[in-house]
Amino acid sequence: MAKKGRVFSGARPTGRQHLGNYLGAIRNYVALQADYDCVYCVVDLHALTTMETTLELKNNTYEMALDWLAAGIDPKQSILFIQSHVHQVTELFTILSMVSPLGKLTDLPTFKDKVRENPHNINLGLVGYPVLMTADIVLYKSDLVPVGIDQQPHIEFARETVRSFNFRYNTNVLIEPAMKVTEVPKVLGTDGQQKMSKSLNNHIELALTPEETQKVIMTMVTDPARVRRSDPGNPDICNVFSMHKVFSSPEEIAMVDVECRRAGIGCVDCKKLFAKNLNAHLAPFREKRAELAKRPDDIWDTLQDGDTRARVIAEQTMSEVKAAIGLP
Ligand code: SF4
Repeated sequence: MAKKGRVFSGARPTGRQHLGNYLGAIRNYVALQADYDCVYCVVDLHALTTMETTLELKNNTYEMALDWLAAGIDPKQSILFIQSHVHQVTELFTILSMVSPLGKLTDLPTFKDKVRENPHNINLGLVGYPVLMTADIVLYKSDLVPVGIDQQPHIEFARETVRSFNFRYNTNVLIEPAMKVTEVPKVLGTDGQQKMSKSLNNHIELALTPEETQKVIMTMVTDPARVRRSDPGNPDICNVFSMHKVFSSPEEIAMVDVECRRAGIGCVDCKKLFAKNLNAHLAPFREKRAELAKRPDDIWDTLQDGDTRARVIAEQTMSEVKAAIGLP
């Protein structure tokens, strides 16, 4: 069956993936493969904008690729590759920089956030981040970019940049990408307060063993008003219940909803039930991951094959771009 177009998405190499990555992105990446030609990229150059050390970069790339493949990214259908291995992206970044107003870049809320987070490392790469992201998207002639709502300004920027480029050079060689705003649930960490994140150490890694997973789940913060087992709880403000809604059966969700409120179930048993269901859900992923991890070279080969396939598209785009500009 003909696919509907090409999807592009990238993520920084953050190593082993967690439940927040899974629910927010990976699950969606896997599903999109049925309808689109998908290009998924480990954006290692983007990572450099804020990274203080690159010691873990290679290993984090490997671990993330391993998790993506184990979760169902199919390298036969999709292109999975490393951003810096296709040098045309930096070339296109330079060309697009010439049609990217600096004031617009420094006005983006995401840039202001980064300045707040990294006040001592405000580099040119950080300002140009959306330009590099635009180069990523348009280099592969992507029709659609799945993003969370926080990335919306970047895609708007990409669309404007494409229009500026095409207008300035009187061409239509670059494709304006459409945005697919995905319902990314805000996945809270084990603290029940902040977004799940490795840096906050409130995450549940997908690749943990079932025992380790249960141990982490037992540390999850629940309804703070439920001090004793006999205190009734409120599942509506409990992150464990939010997770049940994703991983448990409708009957179990209904049971927890009722029993928590009348102290019929304790938090320990409630968490054990969630751990059991999460472990069951992740069992095929873990099995495949263990299998893939036996042959690390194959993971690098898969990425290399992705590089080669991505480069073919990139070379074609760049020759069209250069011809449109009239570069000698
Ligand atoms: S019983 Fe479950 S839903 Fe209720 S507060 Fe405890 S962990 Fe949360």
